[in-house]
Amino acid sequence: MTKKAFITGLTGQDGSYLAELLLSKGYQVFGLVRRSSTSNLERINHLFNQIQILSGDLLDQSSLMDVIAEAQPDEIYNLASQSYVPLSWTQPALTAEYTALGVSRLLESIRRCKPDARFYQASSSEVFGQPDESPQTERTAFRPRNPYGVAKAYAHWMTVNYRQKYNLYNCCGITYTHESPRRGTEFVFRKITHAAAQIKLGLANELKLGNLDARRDWCYAKDAVYAMWLMLQQAQPDDYIIASGETHSVRELVECAFNCVDLNWQDYVSVDPAFYRSDESVQLVGSINKIKTELGWQPQYSFEQLVEVMVDYDLKKLSKNGA
Ligand code: GDP
Repeated sequence: MTKKAFITGLTGQDGSYLAELLLSKGYQVFGLVRRSSTSNLERINHLFNQIQILSGDLLDQSSLMDVIAEAQPDEIYNLASQSYVPLSWTQPALTAEYTALGVSRLLESIRRCKPDARFYQASSSEVFGQPDESPQTERTAFRPRNPYGVAKAYAHWMTVNYRQKYNLYNCCGITYTHESPRRGTEFVFRKITHAAAQIKLGLANELKLGNLDARRDWCYAKDAVYAMWLMLQQAQPDDYIIASGETHSVRELVECAFNCVDLNWQDYVSVDPAFYRSDESVQLVGSINKIKTELGWQPQYSFEQLVEVMVDYDLKKLSKNGA
């Protein structure tokens, strides 16, 4: 029988990759889209005729119950949230509405309308905030440091609590930064790969960056969504960290991206204090021991391969636009 999956956050980076993965596995895919949504549909344009769009909102309990009752999904992936950290400071209550209470509403809707559905909650490494150990594991204490992280921590524990209390098949995947050509250029990874391609093609001649020593645990969004799917295929639900398990600096990233286009990054990159962050003492890195041992998952793309994929994408895209 055809499996049915329901995705919130369909129009985002992860939602679009997950939809592609599930379609390739023969799933019937439903996506929640806000009727008033002005969000960019660009990422799912190519999938539009293969996905059933259902209208609803994480702010509205009854709309969630209606769409779940209608779709009767076997698997539900909650990838929607207000995820921009600076905005979570200017709109903390709205962030909590979507990112925290939205999950409560979703869990209640599942419990009432489709209690045998398997549920994936997108937790974030932001729940660790200022962790007291590194690398972080699934047992590391949550010490979120911004309203987004706090909301994600609430959502995480509600998902776990509903699993314990109601015996629902609920999983949380704690993802670290994951990138792809569908990322915006405001994020440093895409900013750099995009700029390297632009400079190579003569469309730009400099790149201004902030802290070159900042480090991140970066993996490919395609690898991350595969882990999400895998988590819902197990006999027992559980929570896992989804990460690359290693960190790289912005300096390594810029060097690698410029190497891909045979340029010397030092000829083009300058440091601009405007891009510096005030507090960067914490460097998050996830331990992937549990997911590796129990689910056999590990990233298929190395850091270098991810840089190459993204530079190639931007080279092709920019050449086509110019042509
Ligand atoms: P996030 O902070 O993990 O959400 O992702 P970003 O991609 O925005 O930032 C990653 C790291 O790169 C941070 O530690 C930044 O301080 C550092 N960084 C250095 N230069 C830049 C820059 O020009 N833009 C951005 N966004 N980040 C930069």
